[in-house]
Amino acid sequence: MWEADASQDLWEDVPRRGGGAAAGSPHGDRFVTGNLTSDDLDVERSLRPQRLDDYCGQEHIKQSLRILIEAAQSRGETLDHVIFSGPPGLGKTTLATVVANELGAQIKTTSGPAIERTGDLAAILTNLQPGDVLFIDEIHRLNRSVEEVLYPAMEDFALDIVIGKGPAARSIRLEIPHFTLVGATTRSGMLTGPLRDRFGISFRLDYYSVEDLAQIVLRSAAILGVSVDYDSAAEIASRSRGTPRLANRLLKRVRDYAQVRGGGSVDVDIAREALEFFEIDELGLDWMDIRILETLARTFHGRAVGLSTLASAVGEDPSTLEDVYEPYLLQRGLMVRTPQGRMATPAAFEHLGMQPPRA
Ligand code: ADP
Repeated sequence: MWEADASQDLWEDVPRRGGGAAAGSPHGDRFVTGNLTSDDLDVERSLRPQRLDDYCGQEHIKQSLRILIEAAQSRGETLDHVIFSGPPGLGKTTLATVVANELGAQIKTTSGPAIERTGDLAAILTNLQPGDVLFIDEIHRLNRSVEEVLYPAMEDFALDIVIGKGPAARSIRLEIPHFTLVGATTRSGMLTGPLRDRFGISFRLDYYSVEDLAQIVLRSAAILGVSVDYDSAAEIASRSRGTPRLANRLLKRVRDYAQVRGGGSVDVDIAREALEFFEIDELGLDWMDIRILETLARTFHGRAVGLSTLASAVGEDPSTLEDVYEPYLLQRGLMVRTPQGRMATPAAFEHLGMQPPRA
């Protein structure tokens, strides 16, 4: 039998930290990472939409979820297992909570790295109530043996337990309550085929439009009791890299700035001044993004540069560079990855006010 101890921390929110590059830097902590930082924890709960109606944007996902939830409820069945994928801060955890609330179900939250042993997962599964939503964040980080326990649980609502060892070992099957697994991943490519196939419903979250982010900023400002007009909300939104978590974070910094330098309320000039003060430019790039682009454009004259060379030139760890900084620069078309290495694009030269080198 597994040593199944349902230790408390399996249920707790995963401490996900932002790109640590800026810690201890003269520029202070980095604002523009989509990852969760300790600064977000307190307000995230109050700002997190609870129902589909409060969830801004991602219209297609919302409409599909409404239909799927209503259909499952009218059949008196649990909702099929759902996977949400997409970059950090786009609202995957929020959607998991929203799904549970719309179903009128309890949500139990854990994460791939928190479930170390098969016994941990068995404890979680046997403690579920019928109809519960089990949310596993960073589900691509589940280890292989734990994942194998999940397969029969997802498919047949059963746990296969091996008793004994060697030739005398035998397997017994335990029934567990019907539940809905909601998985979230920032790396859908790292999901194994068998796990991916067991999710009946799969959604990929896209970066938000400025319009949708402006609505999120206005909603958050109302909750935080900050007076913000539409133009200021749009200004904050346009520098938020398509990411609600960043929009909320920038709103809080603009609020702080307005409190000290303005009369407390936020207008577009104060918003702009604050964002410039915190070194977030009009594309949402911070000093580190600029340093990366300048290194590619100035130091390497637009030539292709290998990841580790670039990382040491900007004083950053290669994996942080790849996971935290590059995705947005690639998505905005400011950098390309070629077989020879990373290169600044003509758009990057233009953004830096430089002439691109002649081909
Ligand atoms: P993820 O799990 O994808 O990293 P979260 O669900 O934790 O992202 O979202 C981060 C924060 O952004 C939430 O606390 C919430 O306040 C806000 N947020 C995310 N999506 C939306 C949305 N569609 N509408 C309003 N706020 C949102």
